[in-house]
Amino acid sequence: MKRKLQIEVPGGEDTVLLHTCCAPCSSAIVEALTDNGIRPVIYYCNPNIYPEREYLMRKDECTRYARSLGLEIVDADYDHAQWLTAMKGLENEPERGARCLKCFRYRLERAAGYAHEHGLKVVTTTLASSRWKSLDQINEAGRYAAGLFPDVVWWDRNWRKGGLQERRSQIIKEYCFYNQQYCGCEFSMRFLSRSIEKEDGQQAWPGPSPSDL
Ligand code: SF4
Repeated sequence: MKRKLQIEVPGGEDTVLLHTCCAPCSSAIVEALTDNGIRPVIYYCNPNIYPEREYLMRKDECTRYARSLGLEIVDADYDHAQWLTAMKGLENEPERGARCLKCFRYRLERAAGYAHEHGLKVVTTTLASSRWKSLDQINEAGRYAAGLFPDVVWWDRNWRKGGLQERRSQIIKEYCFYNQQYCGCEFSMRFLSRSIEKEDGQQAWPGPSPSDL
């Protein structure tokens, strides 16, 4: 049986801007928020994802989940070329390195900007639910982004705790979500074996999800 997690938003707000990276990562967080009467405005801003068909697949899954719950989803711009320019010089960084910190800042800056423009005071992200990412980096980026706008607060809740990881696995199965197998950018695809190239030239990503994203 599902256990209800008690959640309180900073400042007692009943709406939060939830930067969302994908349906699996957002699954249990969105549910926990709505179970507590908190409305998440789902903000899909991930121009880091490459190629575009992968971006669209992840976005479609987020949209499917949001709509099934009657929630609003905001579709931010997909400008991968601009993102690449911002990452220049960091292409060879490992995951959890300087490029990832900059990538988090890039996306959360835009999330905080949207919150500021639309009167939303609290921002958090589903990125924080993935155990493959550095919580310290995410919180550093979130504090930086919120700090650009005096009326926006960064919510640094640890979304990996309180049974949310277990619930996430259940929801992924319930919805049969597409579960990607690399973080998102072309640089995070490096470990994928060339031997898995299909004959038609399209890349397949087999095996267990290293991102469990
Ligand atoms: S590995 Fe992931 S977090 Fe790091 S730069 Fe690429 S997409 Fe962004």
